[in-house]
Amino acid sequence: MQLGVRSEELGVNFSDSSFNKQEIFWLASYALGLTTSQLMTRENFSPEEISKINSLIKRRENGEPLQYIMGVADFYGRDFEVGPGVLIPRHDTETLIDAAKKIFSHDSKFNFLDWGTGSGCIAVTLLLEFQNSFAHMLDASPAAFNYAEKNLSRFDVRERAKVISSLNLDERIFDLIISNPPYIPSREIQNLMPEVKDHEPELALDGGEDGMNFYILIFQQAKSILKEGGYLIFEAGDAEQVQKLKTLDKSFIFVNQILDSGNFPRALIFKSR
Ligand code: GLN
Repeated sequence: MQLGVRSEELGVNFSDSSFNKQEIFWLASYALGLTTSQLMTRENFSPEEISKINSLIKRRENGEPLQYIMGVADFYGRDFEVGPGVLIPRHDTETLIDAAKKIFSHDSKFNFLDWGTGSGCIAVTLLLEFQNSFAHMLDASPAAFNYAEKNLSRFDVRERAKVISSLNLDERIFDLIISNPPYIPSREIQNLMPEVKDHEPELALDGGEDGMNFYILIFQQAKSILKEGGYLIFEAGDAEQVQKLKTLDKSFIFVNQILDSGNFPRALIFKSR
């Protein structure tokens, strides 16, 4: 196979690699600033080029996520800037966008809070999918500020967003609060894949003893900042959390759920009573 021959020319021993050939080609293309087809038709590589490629491959072999090395991750069909300090967007989280589409039409005017925005992938996608929406993007981490700003500029939606580090609990201004909060139970953090555990921010993952801490907090805060009849959209982690969430706070009624590709109810929609 042509790919195989070429990759051996790059000096990579696949039998030692814990990741696949496709990733090596992505890394090599990225290292040299070439498309994969340009890379494949290249006759030979200079020693500098080989060493550039190999240094990226080393990072990958040490377990660093591909998205951090390349600096981008796909979310809802768009490439978002990511790096250490922000959670890499997951495809399951795209169900939160589909959930918003169940509530609003593409020209609806609404004001939303993205609680724990990270890279900003959820908020920026909503801003792009809903032309008349306005975002508040909340996060406690400096890395999140950096990447949220980058992605707002990258997609040219900066003027419809505010990046904030705390909430003003005096005003009920939001039509929607959307969140993929940290929800992994603390004791399970140690069982996560090394790629996640050793590289992604614990702040974005650890949801306390049963993973419910931030849902409880956000429901509580929602009572002060969500408009009457406003909506909440949460990502959930497992069946037990889904069950608990549905009856967690009597001020909100569960209205709908969106299944992910594994048929798990990943996005839950609530409405304030
Ligand atoms: N879905 C993420 C994971 O499995 C967790 C995200 C979160 O805690 N919100 O790593």
